[in-house]
Order: sequence, then structure tokens, then C-alpha cells
Amino acid sequence: MKKILCIGCLIAFFHTDIFAQKVECKTRITKPAVKFTQKQKDSLNTISAINTPYCVRVYITVFANNDGTLRADNDANIMTNFQYMVDRMKPHNICMMLINIRQVNNTDLNTQDTETEEGELAPYLISGCLNIFIHRAMDGNGNAYAIPNTYLSLDGQAYNIATMGHEAGHCLGLYHTFETYFGAENVTRNSGNACYDCENDGDLLCDTPADDDGGVNGSCNYIGGNTDACGVAYAPMTSNMMGYGNFICRNAFTAGQGARMRAMIAVNAGLQSITAHDIVYRPTGSNSAVLYNTGEWHQTARDHLILSNYTNDPYSVTGAAVMHIQAKKVTLKEGTHFSPTSGRVRIKSNTYCD
Ligand SMILES: [Zn+2]
Repeated sequence: MKKILCIGCLIAFFHTDIFAQKVECKTRITKPAVKFTQKQKDSLNTISAINTPYCVRVYITVFANNDGTLRADNDANIMTNFQYMVDRMKPHNICMMLINIRQVNNTDLNTQDTETEEGELAPYLISGCLNIFIHRAMDGNGNAYAIPNTYLSLDGQAYNIATMGHEAGHCLGLYHTFETYFGAENVTRNSGNACYDCENDGDLLCDTPADDDGGVNGSCNYIGGNTDACGVAYAPMTSNMMGYGNFICRNAFTAGQGARMRAMIAVNAGLQSITAHDIVYRPTGSNSAVLYNTGEWHQTARDHLILSNYTNDPYSVTGAAVMHIQAKKVTLKEGTHFSPTSGRVRIKSNTYCD
């Protein structure tokens, strides 16, 4: 009897321990900071990269237990959160194209300890996409694991309307508005002031006001009442997606954050790999027929996808292959063969990009 009680104690302690650490976001800076110099920004501007519209492919995996029970979230709620993120990114010339939502039954991954189990996600990563994993229980509402990154995790029972877009912001290179890794940011935006440091401290951006994460009330007012190292009162942007404060207040990225996300996509190969080109031809040239007969794939373009454009270059999906095709306009030319047996072919219109 003593033994059983003791085990009970251990389990209780374990659970308490996890939830005692539960925070809004567990994303930490694990990679060297990417600071864009004015010269780099000017260079990116010159080649228009910083103004280019980007289309990011998103793949959502929602976990359930081995027997299919305790699904981490339902599709309707996932779509509500996805659309909120899409609407926040859109003003910054970043559209997000949903490739698929799938359910994976895995009791272990349905409860995720992001400190120790990040590596267990590897077999479930769909290449070429921003992977969003939704777990039933987690040691935080969200975690992007690294900045930048191509995958993130959400607690399906605890994430709020701003969490998905917040973690995606980390994946595309944004730091918290209250970040102190580089140094605590001062309030002044006067570059002649000795306290001016917004380009090198905080989140490295000057159009997000300095933030000490001092708290936000239900009316979206900052209630911290604190001052920076120079004695100037904080007045953070309580509606910023990359703050904490009150989640109901968080609904916008700044122009500087948008530019940083686009610049990060422009220079980061991992992020480039999750974006769809505007116009795509497959196969890409003569005598290069493609056949998919197993595995899960996506074939996308932001605007126009043309299959089997060249003579003698058929495009075939057969057998057990699962193919997700998506663009604003899809043209299937002679030579395109779809005959899946246990697999499937799904052609969807890209409704996410203007
Ligand atoms: Zn965060």
C-alpha cells in the first residue's frame, strides 16, 4: 500500500512540475541572431526581395492517442486559428497556403515535452512546408523551437487565437517585443539620444516600442508602470503579435516585423524551401517524366501550376501515392495521368493569396 501511495506521489509531482513551467511561449534563441545591417537592407531593397510577396506552404499535423481518442483539436477550431494567422500575415505580403490537415495517432507525441522530445517530430515533418504540430498537452502554449525554423508545436487545449501566428512569426525570424537576449531595449526613438538602442537591443526593430512584458489589462492598456534604464516610462504596443500581455489584444505585426520576415525568407535557404513559386511547370523539361506511386507529396504554385507541358514528359500519380495539388489556377495538359489506388490526388484552389 505504501508503494502505491508513493507512485501516486511521484505522478502528482511530475504533473505539477510540467504545468508549473507552462508558459505562453517556450521559444528560445538557440541560433545566432540574424541582424540585418542597413547595407543588407538596402541591398535586399535593390533586388526587390524585401518587397516580394511570399507564399508559404503550411502543413498541419494534429495528434491523437494510439486508439484515435483524445484528438488534440478539431478541424473547425484549427481553421479559425489558421485564418487568424493568415489575416495577420497578409498585410505584410506573406500569404500562407494550407496544404493539408492530417491526424496522426501517437499517444507519446500527443503529450509533448518540448524540452526533451523535439527530435521525435522528425519522422513526421513534411518537407517543403511550415509544419504545425498540435498536441493534446504540452509544456507551454506554443514553441517554435528555434528562430528561424520550419516547424512549431501548439498545445491543442491551451493555445489562444494569437499563438499560431506568434509561433509562425518566430519561425520567420521574429523575436519577442520584450526580448532581452541582446540587451534590454530603451524607449527612446531619437537616434541622437545616448539611450537609443532599438536597432541592437530588444527585438532589433525600432517600429515595435520597447516592452518589458509588464502586463496588459482587459482593455488592452499596459499596466506595468515601469521605466527603462534611462528612466523613461514603457509604452509597449499591446496589440503586437510578438508580445505576451493579453492575447485578446494581439492582432498585428508592424511594417518592420513584416520587412524582417520577408528579408529572413530572402536570405534563409530553409525558409525559401517552404515557399511556393508564382508559376511552376512540372516536369521541368524534355524527357523528364515524373511518376509518384508511393509516399505523400505536394505540387504547388502561388498562381499557376502547369502539368505535362512538354511533349513526351508525362506527369503520373498512381498506386499508394498521396498528392496535394494547389495553385490559383491548375492546368492539366495531355500526358497527365491520375490513377491512385490506395492513395489519392487532391486538387485545391489557392484561395489564400491575393
Ligand atoms: Zn514566443
